[in-house]
Amino acid sequence: MLDYVFGLFSHEIGIDLGTANTLVLVKGKGVVIREPSYIARHKKTKEILAIGTEAKRMVGKTPASIVVSRPLKDGVISDFEATEAMLHYYINKVHEIPGAFPRIPRPQVVVGIPSQVTEVEARAVSEAALSAGARQVFLIEEPMAAAIGAGLPVEEPEGSMIVDVGGGTSEIAVISLSGIVVNKSLRIAGDEMDQAIIDYCRKTEAILLGAKTAEDVKITVGTAYPLKKEIETVVRGRSLKTGLPKSIRVTSKQTLEALRPVVSQIVEAISDTLQDTPPELVGDILEKGIVLAGGGSLLRGLDRLVAERTKMPVWVVDDPLTCVVRGCGKVLEDRTLLEKVKVIGGIRG
Ligand code: ADP
Ligand code: MG
Repeated sequence: MLDYVFGLFSHEIGIDLGTANTLVLVKGKGVVIREPSYIARHKKTKEILAIGTEAKRMVGKTPASIVVSRPLKDGVISDFEATEAMLHYYINKVHEIPGAFPRIPRPQVVVGIPSQVTEVEARAVSEAALSAGARQVFLIEEPMAAAIGAGLPVEEPEGSMIVDVGGGTSEIAVISLSGIVVNKSLRIAGDEMDQAIIDYCRKTEAILLGAKTAEDVKITVGTAYPLKKEIETVVRGRSLKTGLPKSIRVTSKQTLEALRPVVSQIVEAISDTLQDTPPELVGDILEKGIVLAGGGSLLRGLDRLVAERTKMPVWVVDDPLTCVVRGCGKVLEDRTLLEKVKVIGGIRG
């Protein structure tokens, strides 16, 4: 009973702890925070100097005493303390948003976590959220959250395939009856694409690009499938011959070549997952299509390449960068579904 009364006043938030971006959604308000998953700390004292956007701005510009890192780099929580600090920061930041939490401040929280996270790590995340001020914590696996965010019929006895290409990891999952039937996670996604562009330019143009520049190239002209009309961009890097700044032109055709090995690995993992999927479910996927989500799914032609190689229909969700957090938001509104899909839940602080 007390629970029910409390529930009437409760405030609920969803958090997508991504390798590249952290998003926070407040129920009834939508996505209120989107920041890169970076943390800047003092090297010796470990004191936290900045989190999110502010920390990302420091990348590549720090003195020896400051370290900027991504606590979830490979889709696992490689730096627990930093993850805890991030959760603290975001849960508290939500309270500073005008009108977000008028009265009782301790929220119920649904956190999307990578599916490869161990039980111990999962407990650690929920404890971190509790110590960050959450009243109750539920964890759901990111592919499940993405599928729910994409509006797939996860509760039905029907196969749905979701491919979430993020920054550090690509997660591929086949879902049916509120559970993950087959699941593959590979540490190849958007970051590897950026690195492939850096490697390509070093080899063919003898120029060293920064990570941010490589990401810009990927977003502005990058493609996984030949384009009808070539596009190009001009970027600056450092000449490996002279050591001095130099500008080069990069075409979409060059990115196609540079990105081929990376996108091929993603496509192969999708094919492997399909091979491991029970035939009835493959039939459903053939009918409904493979669904792409995550920022990496915005790479030009990735959908086409996957469709061509798998011979399946493929579509990219609307707003792929917010898909996981929107899925967390949906389960906050549908407790029956939350009960079915949570991996750890109802832990109270
Ligand atoms: P995560 O869930 O791991 O935090 P996101 O889903 O936020 O990752 O996606 C981040 C990745 O998406 C980054 O590698 C980023 O470069 C990439 N990305 C964002 N927009 C685009 C775009 N338009 N084209 C290609 N890649 C993109
Ligand atoms: Mg993600």
